[in-house]
Amino acid sequence: MNSIFSKIINKEIPSDIRYEDDLCIVIDDINPKAEVHLLIIPKKNIKNINSANQEDQMILGHLLLVCKKLAKDLKIADSGYQILTNVGEGGGQTVMHLHFHLLSGNAVTL
Ligand code: 5GP
Repeated sequence: MNSIFSKIINKEIPSDIRYEDDLCIVIDDINPKAEVHLLIIPKKNIKNINSANQEDQMILGHLLLVCKKLAKDLKIADSGYQILTNVGEGGGQTVMHLHFHLLSGNAVTL
């Protein structure tokens, strides 16, 4: 099923895309929980980590390396940041299209 993120990826609804390549886009979270709160979203419609399989290995690795690049570009690499992904409703996932949250500034305490 198509989510709001598919519509953003397909440019059906406008969004301020902070980074884009063949495999993913990066946008600011509409409801930020930290000073820096970006969403790293694969273009492939994968629901969440439960739905990812072996053929998605490269995409998953790529998303993490994009997080690293963004952290460096935003100069938060040394001070530190969090990468988080929610899985399923019980895991706090509200948009059913895989995404990593990149958070920095006031860390979510686990
Ligand atoms: P989840 O709860 O699924 O882990 O995270 C979904 C995130 O997407 C939430 O933090 C929410 O604020 C954000 N979000 C939901 N709809 C939109 C939207 O239309 N645009 C943007 N930029 N973020 C959204």
